[in-house]
Amino acid sequence: MASALRREEIICLFDVDGTLTAPRQSILDSTEEFLLTHVKPKATIGLVGGSDFSKIAEQMRGEDVVKKFDYVFAENGLVAYKHGNLVGKMSILEYVGEDKLQTFINYALGYMSKLRLPVKRGNFIEFRDGLINVCPVGRSCSQQERDQFAAYDKENHIREEFVKDLKKQFPDFGLVFAIGGQISIDVFPIGWDKTYALKFVEKDCYKEIHFFGDKTSPGGNDHEIFEDSRTIGHTVTSPEDTISQLKRLLGL
Ligand SMILES: [Mg+2]
Repeated sequence: MASALRREEIICLFDVDGTLTAPRQSILDSTEEFLLTHVKPKATIGLVGGSDFSKIAEQMRGEDVVKKFDYVFAENGLVAYKHGNLVGKMSILEYVGEDKLQTFINYALGYMSKLRLPVKRGNFIEFRDGLINVCPVGRSCSQQERDQFAAYDKENHIREEFVKDLKKQFPDFGLVFAIGGQISIDVFPIGWDKTYALKFVEKDCYKEIHFFGDKTSPGGNDHEIFEDSRTIGHTVTSPEDTISQLKRLLGL
């Protein structure tokens, strides 16, 4: 049944990678057009990405994404824009402190140094404002190497085992370890998953907060916000699937 709510009463929040774009690719013209000309008049729209703002802007084809979408949340909402203005910024370094962070980084590098993978490249740890991105294959890998790792990981559970080990190693650091995207693990303080973004939209008293994401299973970076009692969660398999679910939801 199509929603009868006005756009001020309903918000649709979207994961970026795998939900609005193919993995690591830019958004297609047709997807963007659908969102801006069909969805936006009917619902408030926002992005909730795990990547930093520059990567989201790259995938959404330009920094004016903050003007096209009502909300843009980078790094799970630790960097927050509303109607083009920066409304929030938080840093993991400030919150956790250098000592604990370095203990964690040293351990993670040690663990990865013992992994044997099809290929290894560079940039195994990426330090962002709101999270640490840990990447066994190295973020400087090519698209082909990235796909290769994703396939290898699916069969050999490299990231799953790594996450299990990190949880065992750091039970009292107050950190979450979540499989994110195709090649990495996101590390951030408890509560700094995508539900962090909800504190910004909650204030605006929407009757329905919808969330669309492709990694909604336990361990995926969309899981917490998908499960949250404040949201209505939608699991999608591709941008095409997101569009068809939106059509059903909004009666488009
Ligand atoms: Mg995703």
